[in-house]
Amino acid sequence: MDSPSRRHFIIPTNTDIGASRVRGEEPCTYLCGNSLGLLPKPAEVLVQEELRVWGSRAVQGHHDHPLGREWVKITDHVNPLLGDLLGAREAEVACMGTLTANLHLMMNTFYRPTPDRYKLLCEGKAFPSDQYAFASQVQLHGFKPEDAIIEMNPRQGEFTLREEDILEVIEKHGSSITLVIFSGVQYYTGQWFPMQSITKAAKAQGCICGWDLAHAIGNVPLSLHDWDVDWAVWCSYKYLNSGPGNIAGLYVHEKWDEKPRYAGWWGHDPATRFLMPPIFSPIRGAQGLQLSNPSVLGVASLLGSLQVFKEAGMMGRLRERSVELTAHLEGLLTRSAYFVPPHEAAVKLPLCVGSTDSVQYRRPAFTIITPTAANSRGSQLSLLFFSSDTELMQKVHERLGSYGVMTDERHPNVIRLAPTALYNTIEDCENAAKYLEEVLKELDN
Ligand SMILES: *Cc1c(COP(=O)(O)O)cnc(C)c1O
Repeated sequence: MDSPSRRHFIIPTNTDIGASRVRGEEPCTYLCGNSLGLLPKPAEVLVQEELRVWGSRAVQGHHDHPLGREWVKITDHVNPLLGDLLGAREAEVACMGTLTANLHLMMNTFYRPTPDRYKLLCEGKAFPSDQYAFASQVQLHGFKPEDAIIEMNPRQGEFTLREEDILEVIEKHGSSITLVIFSGVQYYTGQWFPMQSITKAAKAQGCICGWDLAHAIGNVPLSLHDWDVDWAVWCSYKYLNSGPGNIAGLYVHEKWDEKPRYAGWWGHDPATRFLMPPIFSPIRGAQGLQLSNPSVLGVASLLGSLQVFKEAGMMGRLRERSVELTAHLEGLLTRSAYFVPPHEAAVKLPLCVGSTDSVQYRRPAFTIITPTAANSRGSQLSLLFFSSDTELMQKVHERLGSYGVMTDERHPNVIRLAPTALYNTIEDCENAAKYLEEVLKELDN
């Protein structure tokens, strides 16, 4: 399986990342695209172009741009491409702000609790920023998080949520829930939630349904409009490769137009924006929620990356590659001498993490907590390590790095591997599995 888009990316070498035990001039094995996507060459080109326009045209660049990307409407170039990735209409998408700030903006509009219906349903162990946002929002409305937030956790002995359990909670508690908000793909376990059925169940109970797509956009195919999703937010530096901390976005279904909102001049009708009228007249749709003029350098970088997505055929073809790569990596890992199937691990785990009394569990071991079914995951496998050595995960992570395998550690004991469709290869998967085996052998003594 070739990797037609890989040539568009700058891949750090083993020397660049300080990997001392492999050939320095070769590209490293980068499996962190779920955390920070690699730099697409077109992004570098576009940012340099904008810097030159800034240097040569200065303020004129807003309205008179030598390359036809007037800064006042620079987001017009990215919105259709984002719409494609999200399965949304262009008017339902806004490229703006940052993820957590957008989450608050959306909750400000869509979390409208009443005394009877004030609860929020989410997954347990959501990304911390989301947890903090949820708790602070319910507190601002005078509720207590422990009462107002329902968190769903996996069954005893399981690592991820079952669809039937989520649907049951929605049905049972729906009348007291105002907002159902899950992540599309869970950052820790890699589980891709059944978005369509959760949305449908939530709406059947009269709840609003929102999604945090930080780990889903550019990773799995989405059909937000057709699934009748009310709103969603995302960031663009993970699978979208737009660069660290770069501009985020939000989606609002077109049926929501007359909602209470925070307003800013960039949400005002562009036809009269620069007449500086005193009364706010919003753009219809999601772009009416824009507050500030966007970072042009940030949008240019995102545009460069989205051009690579476009050339690659967007999510249809990429999803096929992602499924193949992830399955290939899984196949290699499950053949490891140190692999323990998840159902066995779930039984052993409480006995061995940090425990010294059982010789049986001293050997290093790992399982995969990400669901096995392709339609329940994207391009990520989360490896859970366990042994009486509580530092095992850390040691594995460091040693993998010395072999040029860049992975991402999540406390207390998970290493995430993300073979991304745009730039990773079968060889990357093979390196990861080979060096993991090597490292575990070194640590097994
Ligand atoms: C990456 C991530 C964030 C990061 O938030 P920022 O506002 O971009 O710093 C938040 N939530 C989730 C679910 C994430 O995966």
